[in-house]
Amino acid sequence: MKYIIETWGCQMNEHDSEVLAGMLADLGYKRTDDEMDADVMLLNTCCVREKAESKVLGRLGLLKKLKQNNPDVILGVCGCMMQQPAMADRIKKRMPHMDLVFGTHNIHELPQMINEAKASRTTHIQVWPEQGEVKEGLPIKRTHGIKAFVNIMYGCNNFCTYCIVPYVRGRERSRLSKEILVEIKDLVNDGYREIMLLGQNVNSYGKDLQDEGDFADLLKAVNEIKGLDRIRFMTSHPRDFNLRLVNTLASCNKVCEHYHLPIQAGSSRILKKMNRGYTKEEYLELISQIKDRVPHASITTDIIVGFPGETEEDFDDTMEVISKVRFDGAYTFLYSSRPNTPAAKISEQVPQELKKKRFQKLLALQNSITEEINKQLIGQTLPVLFEGTSKNDDTVLMGRTRTNKIVHVSGHAELIGKIVDVNIQGAQMFSLSGKII
Ligand code: SF4
Repeated sequence: MKYIIETWGCQMNEHDSEVLAGMLADLGYKRTDDEMDADVMLLNTCCVREKAESKVLGRLGLLKKLKQNNPDVILGVCGCMMQQPAMADRIKKRMPHMDLVFGTHNIHELPQMINEAKASRTTHIQVWPEQGEVKEGLPIKRTHGIKAFVNIMYGCNNFCTYCIVPYVRGRERSRLSKEILVEIKDLVNDGYREIMLLGQNVNSYGKDLQDEGDFADLLKAVNEIKGLDRIRFMTSHPRDFNLRLVNTLASCNKVCEHYHLPIQAGSSRILKKMNRGYTKEEYLELISQIKDRVPHASITTDIIVGFPGETEEDFDDTMEVISKVRFDGAYTFLYSSRPNTPAAKISEQVPQELKKKRFQKLLALQNSITEEINKQLIGQTLPVLFEGTSKNDDTVLMGRTRTNKIVHVSGHAELIGKIVDVNIQGAQMFSLSGKII
């Protein structure tokens, strides 16, 4: 029996797909890349922006032909998009060739849901309205052999006014630290060198638990694990990124000096409308605390352009922050109205053309900064963990510095999984090149 999983969206979704693959492997299924060869096909969806949703709907439409050519295949669709109210019924009505629809809260029920879908003559829907307990011990089939995703918590309580995540991922639930530490120790025993601690807002870790400590305590404990080389974490929220955490980052030698700290906008007026819980000044103060204690830290961010009501002055504030902070990189997005979010109800929506104009201006500034920062690394020797070969050339190795810079070198595949010193000799927008020392 064969399975195929297609994943959209963030690392949380990628990791959920590793869990779905783990359960299918436990049922005896083998992975295939050929959809005509599949017995089960799952689409793990994202709905953080409208574009992501239309891509999924387009893909689901195309699967009608596959079902006609391969009637025994079980076609399932899950993830954040399916967790939205009424979405499952919409799929059932418009895409009757889909056999199974489930959400983000009950992926652990996959084995049973596949049997129920096989027995059902129509689209089988299993979407839990509310999140349940954190499920431990689910099988995981990881896509990478050197670095691994480890969930530390699920959901988000922040309710930023533009964001649909709290409505589709539920309330914050932290895993017990002992479960997280055992999982990481097992991964290190299996040869993993790098761990990415995952959560919608990792800085809230432990707030919902008794006597479990907070994110800084968890980092210290993970940092003690013998044989582990590198620790990364995603995603942080500036509101919960306090000085104690900054000092912990500076003192934990395995925590890589790359911090992804979404600011979303540079104007305090817009940050208030976004319910982000910090001002421009507070964000800049946090950045200076980080740069003070971890001078060579690489900091990246997320920025939304064209939030409802954004004026030219507000946008200038964003451009000013970009120039001041000099981020190593920024994921920039056009504001996309999401159903049932407060921001979608704000009347002063920014015209698409104006959004695009501002977006291009912001991108040009940020890209020039990214390139300048990368060029400053030429001549330096940096430790690189090789993760595999380059996408375009398998005689070229690809790895990352601790500051999350992608590095390409010519080298032998036996170096994959090793941390090697590389002298940086070239810099491009999104990667560096160098020579092994
Ligand atoms: S912190 Fe805000 S943007 Fe991030 S997932 Fe939570 S609600 Fe969404």
